[in-house]
Amino acid sequence: MNFTRRALGATALAALLAAPAYAQDKGTVGIAMPTKSSARWIADGDNMVKQFQEAGYATDLQYAEDDIPNQLAQIENMITKGVDALVIAAIDGTTLTNALANAAAMDIPVVAYDRLIRDTGDVSYYATFDNFQVGVQQAETLVSGLEERFPDVEPWNVELFGGSPDDNNAYFFYDGAMSVLQPLIDDGSIEIVSGQMGMDTVGTLRWDGSVAQARMDNLLSANYTDTTIHGVLSPYDGLSIGILSSLKGVGYGSGDMQMPIVTGQDAEVQSIKSILNDQQYSTIFKDTRELAGVTVGMVDALLQGGEPEINDTETYDNGVKVVPSYLLEPVKVTQDNWEDVLIGSGYYTRDQIE
Ligand code: BGC
Repeated sequence: MNFTRRALGATALAALLAAPAYAQDKGTVGIAMPTKSSARWIADGDNMVKQFQEAGYATDLQYAEDDIPNQLAQIENMITKGVDALVIAAIDGTTLTNALANAAAMDIPVVAYDRLIRDTGDVSYYATFDNFQVGVQQAETLVSGLEERFPDVEPWNVELFGGSPDDNNAYFFYDGAMSVLQPLIDDGSIEIVSGQMGMDTVGTLRWDGSVAQARMDNLLSANYTDTTIHGVLSPYDGLSIGILSSLKGVGYGSGDMQMPIVTGQDAEVQSIKSILNDQQYSTIFKDTRELAGVTVGMVDALLQGGEPEINDTETYDNGVKVVPSYLLEPVKVTQDNWEDVLIGSGYYTRDQIE
């Protein structure tokens, strides 16, 4: 008994001595993340906790499993506990107006993380990627994949998927992609065989892969029994997995049925593996370490009286105000550059992928 206690004491002391000497006295930051069902948000949370601690802050990190009332309750709870600042990646960007009014009443600044918070004046800054450019890049990889895999086909038969209609980003991704695809639809190089276009038709509520899979099943049975599909615009790796299952289910990717070009986003491990296995064609890498860095910088400036770094004051109108933003650059990933981009940058280790 004594021995155990003394041993534990020694371990605790060792841990204390080994811990970096962060003076966590600058306050507490509440971090509300949407879900753990996607690896990217786990990385976002982990990176922020680490970087906030290094900057001298304690953190309260909560995930809401894509449940809107749950996220609202978590945020209200953080406000009641008196956090010094809030960082929020909203599930539904339009449901936080009242909660953020309470935060403002307590002088708690709010940074919108990756997803814009809409319909409120009570959001100070927005840290994100160039979301229109993400869509442009998704469509560019779709087109280069079509040229590579189906060089002699005209038109290329393509279907479109959008993200969650309650996520402001989904419209930017879609509009960015259509800025590349619409001219090719107009000149007859691409045909949307189902005719289904526009975010109100192709959106995928809560970014749910099973919803995308079900829609792909329907698209295939209604439109592709006697013609071939060559490409699918998918805005997120989690949807791509569902879409690929559906395609494989009717024989694509085996025999003489070539796998259509399927895009993605977030460079999630499962999708990088899929890309290396000739299934998914591309994804978009968004370095969550950098996004965490920008966000920590914003919060630190807000709380210590500095000027947050921004590089965009025009794009993100949330319905009440244009939220000053910092936009990071997304990166296209295919078989050609995955090693450079993901292993070279230290984002993943080779073991995680191979
Ligand atoms: C993010 C994407 C992500 C999607 C689904 C979007 O708001 O910007 O990176 O793929 O949500 O989680």
